[in-house]
Amino acid sequence: QHFLHNIEQKRHLNAYLQVYDQEALQLAARLDEDRAAGKPLGKLHGVVIALKDVICYKDHPVSAASRILQNFTSVYNATAVERLLAEGAIIIGNTNCDEFAMGSTNENSAYGKVLNALDETRVPGGSSGGSAVAVQAALCMVSLGSETGGSVRQPADFCGIIGFKPTYGRISRYGLIAYASSFDQIGIFAANVPDVALTLEVIAGPDDYDSTVADVEVPAYSTATNSLPATLKIAYFKEALESPALDNEIRDNIFSLIDRLRADGHTVEPVNFEYLDYIVPTYYVLTTAEASSNLARFDGVKYGFRTPNVDKNLALTDFYKSSRSDGFGWEVKRRIMLGTFVLSAGYYDAYFTKAQQVRQLLVEKTNMVFNQFDALLLPTAPSPAFKLGEKMDDPIAMYLADIFTVFSNLTGIPGISIPLFWHSNGMPYGLQIMTNRFRELYLLQLSNQWM
Ligand code: GLN
Repeated sequence: QHFLHNIEQKRHLNAYLQVYDQEALQLAARLDEDRAAGKPLGKLHGVVIALKDVICYKDHPVSAASRILQNFTSVYNATAVERLLAEGAIIIGNTNCDEFAMGSTNENSAYGKVLNALDETRVPGGSSGGSAVAVQAALCMVSLGSETGGSVRQPADFCGIIGFKPTYGRISRYGLIAYASSFDQIGIFAANVPDVALTLEVIAGPDDYDSTVADVEVPAYSTATNSLPATLKIAYFKEALESPALDNEIRDNIFSLIDRLRADGHTVEPVNFEYLDYIVPTYYVLTTAEASSNLARFDGVKYGFRTPNVDKNLALTDFYKSSRSDGFGWEVKRRIMLGTFVLSAGYYDAYFTKAQQVRQLLVEKTNMVFNQFDALLLPTAPSPAFKLGEKMDDPIAMYLADIFTVFSNLTGIPGISIPLFWHSNGMPYGLQIMTNRFRELYLLQLSNQWM
């Protein structure tokens, strides 16, 4: 009732697409009865959770904030959802996002933009903007988002909360609508680290329905005590912190933090990162290629929206064309075309193969860094939340806002944004921390210590 009341008060933020009010209340009542009857309680007993509109919840609408999935209902539960429900969580609704998770501001939704609750003239970040605002404005306790290139960490940074992306292969993608399959992971928003740890513990781990989930042990993240060594070896990318694209205050604050860490006895060293200029292009070549293939299934026949202009003389290809033209928004169409271009016979080697080679170099760089260091620090984004509409006419400027987050998606390592700072413009921003693959426990312990 508390959260439903808050949601009602904050309708204008447009964070939720659907609220399952009656259902949530009924489930809450049933959970109360279980408790009164002394039944064993799940790990998430009564925890109120929101799902980004790209995660399937059986018999509930899921649209990826796209017209092309209008009136589509999930026919099964995502594995993550199945596991949340099994531990007594209450799913209160699904949240707004950029269409097919493509965007950095949540302005690409077919259902309108989401407002940042701390300053309603600013964007909440994206693509998981609705899930971020749902936690920011206390419209739920924890929310799930998805990450292909920063879509959880960046909105968390813009909203002043925690955003966590696990290692690629830590959480099942079964029931997560695909954007770029070799990048996509479900991520978690929360107000404190223990909430992230507990949620991760519940949803992580091997799944028969997703062969890309690694068969590695899932630690008991929520009960692990802080056992960090007193002094750590920490790296930062020199070119990133010196980049002219980075807001000066953010740079200064991160350098001051580095000074404090050194004063506490930690080793913090710059590492050369000669690939900074290549990561955004590499990310956009590879993700648009995968997206153009993944989104081919939306043809007006199998799911959701179908062009109303059907007559018996319409050729099949024209029918597809008409449904896809009307069903997809501009940004999604731009990416399908880009992806189709980089995969086309004449350009495949020049773009796709080259980008894969760069991805391999980045993986090697990651291995090198984590052979020597425990953690890697970066800003989460080059600036705090910008004004609504500010970057809408300039897709390249929008893409460049992803410069510090896409590295971990290209290399598969886990990353987190923790809200440590305030900008003089009144907006919060975070510190991004990354560790080696499958070292989430360490990442969470470190974050908890520093928050
Ligand atoms: N801004 C990135 C993009 O538009 C983030 C996407 C994501 O992580 N889903 O591709």
